[in-house]
Amino acid sequence: MKPRILYTKPSITELEVRYAADAAANGWGDRCYEYISRFEGLFRQYLGVQYAIATSSCTGALHMGMAALGIGIGDEVIMADTNWIATASPIVHLGAKPIFVDILPDSWCIDPDLVEQAITPRTKAIVAVHLYGNLCDMDRLLAIGTKYGIPVIEDAAEAVGSVYHGRRAGSMGVFGAFSFHGTKTLTTGEGGMFVTNNPELYDHVLTLSNHGRSRRQTKQFWPDMVGFKYKMSNIQAAIGCAQMERIEELVNRKREILAYYRERLEKLIGVAGMNPEPEDTINGAWMPTVIFSEKSGVTLEKLQDAFAAENIDARVFFWPLSSFSMFKNEENNIIAWNIFKRSINLPSYHEISEHELSRVIEVIVAIKRSCHG
Ligand SMILES: *Cc1c(COP(=O)(O)O)cnc(C)c1O
Repeated sequence: MKPRILYTKPSITELEVRYAADAAANGWGDRCYEYISRFEGLFRQYLGVQYAIATSSCTGALHMGMAALGIGIGDEVIMADTNWIATASPIVHLGAKPIFVDILPDSWCIDPDLVEQAITPRTKAIVAVHLYGNLCDMDRLLAIGTKYGIPVIEDAAEAVGSVYHGRRAGSMGVFGAFSFHGTKTLTTGEGGMFVTNNPELYDHVLTLSNHGRSRRQTKQFWPDMVGFKYKMSNIQAAIGCAQMERIEELVNRKREILAYYRERLEKLIGVAGMNPEPEDTINGAWMPTVIFSEKSGVTLEKLQDAFAAENIDARVFFWPLSSFSMFKNEENNIIAWNIFKRSINLPSYHEISEHELSRVIEVIVAIKRSCHG
């Protein structure tokens, strides 16, 4: 068996270790929030937003943000069918209903025309998920949001480093949410960030994040509402600070890996597309992905078998959320229900070697050849 190639693995240097050890040794008492405040400050500055709250996960950041927007029982929230479930769960937990619409064939992100068609009097928000670092059509989505008076939320969990018309992913919506899970470009093990430019929303989420205790409340242990407990620890934030000092390096390496794959795979006959980077955008390249054409005969099963035989950990493209048993099937979301059958995510961790990248390329070239007979 050849050595295993993982699809993702964090890049942890001596800097992360030093900061984490310092937080573990000294980050208590008066200093228990030091790394958290610093991490929030670095992230705010990087994103170009006014407010940031470090959280225990992106899911938690979304949950609190949606709760603060007043999303509740009977409400509808429009999002793309192709997605990780973490975007839908908070909607369900709040008693609202995710409305799954189809994606665009090139960006694999939500189709703005279908968003507009799906709006009802109960629509409370639209969630723009920048899938794999690819950018949603934010101009269109924000215009629709303005036209109907519906806030646009950005789930930028996969889009650290992505830039749309000069603005960073996550900084354009009513609020943005990020993930620092171990598989993401920037990691704290588990963790997330809520960001916004809206002072009232920030204040509300800050209170919610602290078990409903307002920062202006002078009485101790005095909640003014039922809140949440989705905080990041100082030790996690210490790792986050080190990762923020290396953010350009982390994102550039992701982009370099995508470029390497693109150069060798995008022009192959049978390859229908890879992560796009339209004019005036930067793709943070979290997850290099290859989509094969229907004509190619390449299927998910064949891809999984071929990668498994080479001991390479390639990942399936997201299943449509509406195909899961807890939701109603939306089989007329034709692209979402079809694209995963002929797509694969390729390994892209920071330290992946040229030799390992070549092994991945060889699998794709071989499978394509075998499918064409
Ligand atoms: C990873 C991810 C999340 C969840 O992040 P957690 O930090 O694990 O809660 C949410 N949305 C998308 C699009 C993701 O990729």
